Amino acid sequence: MESKKIVIGNLKMNFLAQEITAYLKKLEKMDCGKRVILCPSTIYLPYFVGKNFELGIQNISAFESGAYTGEVSAQQAKSIRVHYCLVGHSERRIHFQETDEMIREKIRQALKEKLKVVLCVGETETEKDELKTYKVLKKQIRTALRSFSGKELSDVIIAYEPVWAIGTGKVPSNTEISYTIGFIKAIVKELFDVEVAVLYGGSITEKNIAQLNKIENVDGFLVGSTSLNADKFKKIIEVVVTQ
Ligand code: PEP
Repeated sequence: MESKKIVIGNLKMNFLAQEITAYLKKLEKMDCGKRVILCPSTIYLPYFVGKNFELGIQNISAFESGAYTGEVSAQQAKSIRVHYCLVGHSERRIHFQETDEMIREKIRQALKEKLKVVLCVGETETEKDELKTYKVLKKQIRTALRSFSGKELSDVIIAYEPVWAIGTGKVPSNTEISYTIGFIKAIVKELFDVEVAVLYGGSITEKNIAQLNKIENVDGFLVGSTSLNADKFKKIIEVVVTQ
């Protein structure tokens, strides 16, 4: 059976303008279709338009338009053919104090414009050690997704990204990831009566992707630092999408 998993590359605040051409050249021959999504810095999005992959924005405004200096609206993103947006990444929660309520308003704007929302959730190391993972995930999901219709929620994907696994080289076992993904799918069904796709993210590399790709209930992967290296990112795409 053909795999429908997706791969998202979150380039974060990396690259200078003059480095982008070489990066894109390495990816241009790949048959990515609609199952590879790249999320560059917002300022560089126009360089990535019209290539052989989908485009995502790393953050979106909770407001529709107008006097919000420094913000980028869902409508503006959509106008340059951005089809996805990350929302609630742990770096935004930690460094910019984004709450689940703020995240919900961002989702509201994104869904209004029919952007596909990738809602990032995950527990910290302390929360994991205190056995609070499921409680934390449930709260993040319930608060962020409350008040949307089943039809709207069909444009939402959840990325399970344990905070302690992001950029650390630590990765949960396949069994742990599979259990947690199962929990997330079950909780979304229980709370909102919809099926949701769930990705895993956190220290994915070209070396561990074959192992992670064996997880049966995972619907794809969100890759941070390894996506900065086009050759390594291509290997991940080959394993998950094009093989
Ligand atoms: C991320 O920041 O979403 C992420 C998964 O990062 P990394 O792959 O570097 O752990």
